[in-house]
Amino acid sequence: MAASVREGLPQELRRQSQYLTHKVFNSFHSETEMLRYIFRLQNKDLSLVNSMIPLGSCTMKLNATSEMLPVTWPEFSKIHPFAPSDQTQGYLTMIKRLEAQLAEITGFQGVSLQPNAGSQGEYAGLLVIRKYHQKRGEAHRDVCLIPQSAHGTNPASAAMAGMKIVVVACDAQGNVDVADLKSKAETHSKNLSAFMITYPSTHGVFEEAITEICEIIHQHGGQVYMDGANMNAQVGLCRPGDFGPDVCHLNLHKTFCIPHGGGGPGMGPIAVKSHLVSFLPSHPVVNMQIKDGIGPISAAPWGSASILPIPYVYICLMGTEGLKRATEVAILNANYIAHRLDPHFPVLYKGSHGRVAHECIVDLRQLKATSGVEVEDVAKRLMDYGFHAPTVSFPVPGT
Ligand SMILES: *Cc1c(COP(=O)(O)O)cnc(C)c1O
Repeated sequence: MAASVREGLPQELRRQSQYLTHKVFNSFHSETEMLRYIFRLQNKDLSLVNSMIPLGSCTMKLNATSEMLPVTWPEFSKIHPFAPSDQTQGYLTMIKRLEAQLAEITGFQGVSLQPNAGSQGEYAGLLVIRKYHQKRGEAHRDVCLIPQSAHGTNPASAAMAGMKIVVVACDAQGNVDVADLKSKAETHSKNLSAFMITYPSTHGVFEEAITEICEIIHQHGGQVYMDGANMNAQVGLCRPGDFGPDVCHLNLHKTFCIPHGGGGPGMGPIAVKSHLVSFLPSHPVVNMQIKDGIGPISAAPWGSASILPIPYVYICLMGTEGLKRATEVAILNANYIAHRLDPHFPVLYKGSHGRVAHECIVDLRQLKATSGVEVEDVAKRLMDYGFHAPTVSFPVPGT
């Protein structure tokens, strides 16, 4: 059988080059050798077992073991994504409850748990916006405004969704330059599809003009996409649905405790206002009761569903008061760090009251100029003390 399959391959498609040549593929020939090799790899993994992992806005939440235990239960880990629904009633109950919790937290009316990452949420959300314009007979709307301060995934997702990207400037404080936004929204008024904004911004500040910014976009017929990766500065204190955006994604692997940073699977659900609910991701195999859905944006109807018990347990254990307190403590911690370091290593961006949001950017460019010590050196020195280095040189080089 194997031979006949190989025979079927056209001559020109047959591989000529060597493959699997790395010695790792030819070194471990006994079970014990293999066992030791895998254990050596495991020992190189840096996790909560060894250290805190302060990856900027990303991994600021405790990945509690109690939240992760259910992931190992066969009831969650051994279900096929297309198992008949009469076998997945418990799963569906959890999914519905989690959707309702996330809708309440964001102040939106609909949630899709299909996207597997924040970036995939952006892509899905922009397709939802595109479909909304199409349904209103405005399919020509294809311009996406994106501020300079945006995470790289924003323009990448807009390009994937077939939109034309127009960059909006930021001012010296790191905020969106509202005058520039106004003029670009006017210039592209007829074709304006969406504006993507990260709130609080990647610069670590709450954009004070957020409501006005959303109004400007709406006046020109556009929709506002909020990148919710920094939602841990808002949960329980304020809700995107109350101040303007039409769609946002949540990084469950950032704000809601799914471990990441070591490269585990993520979840980037989107939440939408009621006028967009009927366009959420749907699925050709599983009827998700979505009328004009954009179709599937990942293979399984609820993405990486097996890790959803983590955010679900986190939200249930924390409760309303606990979630709010976690946000308050996150903001307090970031401001403590900013305040203590600022006299020695200037904090690059602050709000009008001299405060930051949930994270801050420490500027080491002056230190490099005067001493030659640069961000990589500080990162490596932190590692000497067992701390995984924080994000370096993003979004500003040398910080
Ligand atoms: C992490 C992040 C993203 C992308 O999310 P992924 O899950 O890594 O795809 C987008 N925007 C911001 C601001 C982020 O921090």
